[in-house]
Amino acid sequence: MSRALVVSADSGVLPDGSAGGGTIVVSDGVITAVGDPGNVTAPAGADHVDAAGLLVAPGLLDIQINGGFGHDFTHEPEALWEVGERLTASGVTSFVPTVVTSGQHERDGLRAVLAQGPPGEYRGATPIGVHFEGPFISPDAAGAHDRSALRLPADAESDVAGWSAETGVAMATIAPELPGAADLMRELVARGVTVSAGHSAADHDQAVAGFDAGATYVTHLFNAMPPLGHRAPGLAGAALVDPRVTLGLIADGVHVHPAVVRLVAAAAGPGRLSLVTDATAALGMPVGRYQLGGRDVVLDRSSVRLAGDGRLAGSALSADQALRRFRSITGWGAAETLGTMTSVPARLLRLADRGALRVGGRGDFTLFTPDLDVVATFVGGLPVFGPWA
Ligand code: ZN
Repeated sequence: MSRALVVSADSGVLPDGSAGGGTIVVSDGVITAVGDPGNVTAPAGADHVDAAGLLVAPGLLDIQINGGFGHDFTHEPEALWEVGERLTASGVTSFVPTVVTSGQHERDGLRAVLAQGPPGEYRGATPIGVHFEGPFISPDAAGAHDRSALRLPADAESDVAGWSAETGVAMATIAPELPGAADLMRELVARGVTVSAGHSAADHDQAVAGFDAGATYVTHLFNAMPPLGHRAPGLAGAALVDPRVTLGLIADGVHVHPAVVRLVAAAAGPGRLSLVTDATAALGMPVGRYQLGGRDVVLDRSSVRLAGDGRLAGSALSADQALRRFRSITGWGAAETLGTMTSVPARLLRLADRGALRVGGRGDFTLFTPDLDVVATFVGGLPVFGPWA
């Protein structure tokens, strides 16, 4: 049976990032028309969503998220679907669950849950594949990761056996200066994995060598890497000026100073800036103690930190909060701001069917107020959060 939905809003964010026509038609989970209300014909029997006064945007993609709502993906992979359902309240329709530096058992655990697929009645955000953040990262920039589980890219053969886009590995963060890093990057790129440079003490030339080897992303720019020096630009400086590279940023105002968020926004422009939450189990939870990769972390009023040493350890940021905070810091318009969690990550991960309101794309979209508060979320044309759900 065909199921159709017509959504009429005041404006919509189109594939080129502009805010344009406000009516979308979704049939059987796929967008079949986008445009001004006068130019779009509603299929007979379609459900109508009157979203007057709202903005219709592609569903959000969070490409670095460690867990949420009390659950840590590294150690509780079975919580993937529960977290995925709750993420829709922040406008997220796709995500890349992230596993921090850990052993083979943990790395296999989340892939096994992904391979098994969601429970039959699942109405949540779609996990694209795993982001392995480590173990091929620098001991000098490991941040909150467990240094005892780090591995060298030169010894990676058994660790990465079976890693590919088809087997559920979407991304891997690797420090480009480590022995064997360039070869490992090339190998993973050939297997369809998006490679990111990060958790790294690379100097400028080592960073560029990583980009030459196929790294197209930088994991949480400025965090877990040396600061930008005017005679020692390092990974951060190399990435800021390289048009091949998309910049991941945690724009909570804590991980990176607002002035530096403005610097990154000015240097990168709307086309290659990707906001992530880097959220932990503390997302959506009260102040207290949670887990990240088997280590205790503490959520206070503004940040999540390793218990004991006070080091930043991910965040409790939601995707919609990230957008609102970034917009208030930079003054970017709604379409450009939304692009940082829609079109930019979709292009990075080569997901042609999402990240834009485009005929033929998935019916994944989010209705926002003009202030970017989430009103409703739809996955595959089905209402999964908000008054129509
Ligand atoms: Zn990290």
